[in-house]
Amino acid sequence: MHSIANGPRQNVTQITDHLYEVRKRVRAALVAAGRKPDDARILAVSKQQSTDSMEALFRAGQRDFGESYVQEAVGKMEALEALDLQWHFIGHIQSNKTRIIAEHFNWVHTIDRLKIARRLNDQRPSHAPPLQVCVQVNQAHEPQKSGVAEPELNDLAHGIAGLPALELRGLMAIPPLSADLEERAALFERLRALNEQLAVEGIPVDTLSMGMSSDMEVAIAHGATIVRIGTAIFGPRAQPR
Ligand SMILES: *Cc1c(COP(=O)(O)O)cnc(C)c1O
Repeated sequence: MHSIANGPRQNVTQITDHLYEVRKRVRAALVAAGRKPDDARILAVSKQQSTDSMEALFRAGQRDFGESYVQEAVGKMEALEALDLQWHFIGHIQSNKTRIIAEHFNWVHTIDRLKIARRLNDQRPSHAPPLQVCVQVNQAHEPQKSGVAEPELNDLAHGIAGLPALELRGLMAIPPLSADLEERAALFERLRALNEQLAVEGIPVDTLSMGMSSDMEVAIAHGATIVRIGTAIFGPRAQPR
């Protein structure tokens, strides 16, 4: 990995090469899992990365970008207004940020309570298509992490399914940092089972947002349809927050 965040001009060639590598890894993992080679999409996680890098990725065909910080994302949206991008919010959602999220993003992966879902629904502009959303599940009961606990998932999902300005697409999770690949595999498989349960109950979910730079292959083997990839594309972020 190269340190790209410090120099005044980031090496955009390297970044697009990394994207091609990640595409290859994703396709190979899909084929290995007996899935179609376009069955999962890459979300480029661009938090703390420059709009120059994002524009280079756009020219290489990347359309979906994930951001965790609202103000940073909105600034980038203005700078990249001319590009036809899909913006995904993947950070913790504070109540006082729901309006700006509802007004600016195409997707939100991190809904974990009905109060937030209702606010996003009420604040989604009437001319905009429904906000595409996933429920974040806190599978390992980590107190510092967002996400609904499993026993509350069902009520939350049915609550969201009744909100007309939101379209519930599926589930999202972030395994604990400490989890090894085997433990991650079990958590991803469990998330898939929870999603299938929602489908059985009549909620038409089709999305599993799981897998990051270090575990995308495992996630794809267990059904991921969106992998959220930061460092494997952009290199290290300037500073962990
Ligand atoms: C930062 C972030 C990622 C990207 O992680 P990498 O390990 O850099 O690929 C994925 N998902 C979420 C929710 C993130 O905050």
